[in-house]
Amino acid sequence: MHKNFKNIDKIVYGKGAFSQLNAIIEPIRKENDKFFVFVVDKYFEGKELANRIPNRDEDLLIFIDVDIKEPYTEQIDNLRDSILEKKGLPSGIVGIGGGSILDIAKATALMFTNEGSSTLYQGLDLIKKPGIYHLGVPTISGTGAECSMTAVLTGPEKKLGLKCEWTVLNQVILDPELIASVPTDKWFYTGMDCYIHCIESESGIFYNAYSKAYGDQALQLCREVFVNEGRGQNDENNEKLMIASLFGGLSLTYSEVGACHAFSYGLSVVKGYRHGIANCIAFNHLKEFYGEAVDEFRNMLEIHNIDLPQNLAKDWTEDEIMEMSKIAYNLTHMWNHAIGMDWKQKWTVEDIANYYRKM
Ligand code: NAD
Ligand code: ZN
Repeated sequence: MHKNFKNIDKIVYGKGAFSQLNAIIEPIRKENDKFFVFVVDKYFEGKELANRIPNRDEDLLIFIDVDIKEPYTEQIDNLRDSILEKKGLPSGIVGIGGGSILDIAKATALMFTNEGSSTLYQGLDLIKKPGIYHLGVPTISGTGAECSMTAVLTGPEKKLGLKCEWTVLNQVILDPELIASVPTDKWFYTGMDCYIHCIESESGIFYNAYSKAYGDQALQLCREVFVNEGRGQNDENNEKLMIASLFGGLSLTYSEVGACHAFSYGLSVVKGYRHGIANCIAFNHLKEFYGEAVDEFRNMLEIHNIDLPQNLAKDWTEDEIMEMSKIAYNLTHMWNHAIGMDWKQKWTVEDIANYYRKM
């Protein structure tokens, strides 16, 4: 069966587009208990962007430190419960930040209308009711969380998204000016998430003309931003990277991620590496899967003086390696794509462990 993909309802793109936020949410303000929630990356607290948020007296403005931990189920449940208790059901929720904040906004929007803990809904199509209106404003580019059907959460048992068509944002504001302040290492690692999405999308059995069209464009933009003459962080490239991220996400939505993301999830869950850097640590060792793209990736590391953590496995216990390997092994949909539907006959937990031992 072919995927029936739900796209973002509305997108506004361009320098300064953030100023349109107030007008965009105005008609939604009459919904539910007539207030908005703004969840904002703590980085922006006290910064100019925080003053431009159109929050009113009745609204809630909540800054969240995403560096402590990737979004987790208990955090979403508590956020939902405290808002419902304090003020009732919001008209909508606006997330301003990177993949972490966008996922927090997406997940909380759903959990306002679905009872119990978010752990109950980690998986595909487990959510029972549409959530409240949710709008995303990315401030760092690469994850594709702005267009994906999932809100990735780490729970007590698994790192898995709330995935369904209601997860998709109702509105996205893509303002390239907002990513200008991202420090180089974060710019690189999150940007590489996009590059890797495109490479994984094209390197597996679910690849198709739809994925190729978006993926080719996204890859070309990534090369302009990270490889070719004129590369680096500047106004023009911020515009390109923002679209690369969106298109990379659209490419993989209609294809699939592969081996790198499977390894990456193991690294994040067991060793706490953030998504972008975990992808990079894994990708560097996946030449058998991704061939010349790994050479190109290493070239990008060098160009941008990125000091990728290496020789990590020497500090990992055998138990940790096996735990990571089992997490990676269980991501069936990624191996289906990367190796083929008969992958279990060709690929074992021990094969995965051998890759981790090299990282
Ligand atoms: P992030 O949201 O975790 O933020 C990374 C860092 O960049 C933080 O320190 C943040 O404060 C900082 N930052 C963000 N914007 C900034 C700015 N404009 N200026 C200065 N600093 C800024 O980063 P991310 O890589 O976008 O997101 C990673 C998360 O996204 C992970 O939790 C991952 O699981 C999730 N993810 C979700 C999807 C999806 O489809 N839903 C896809 C990929 C990854
Ligand atoms: Zn990713």
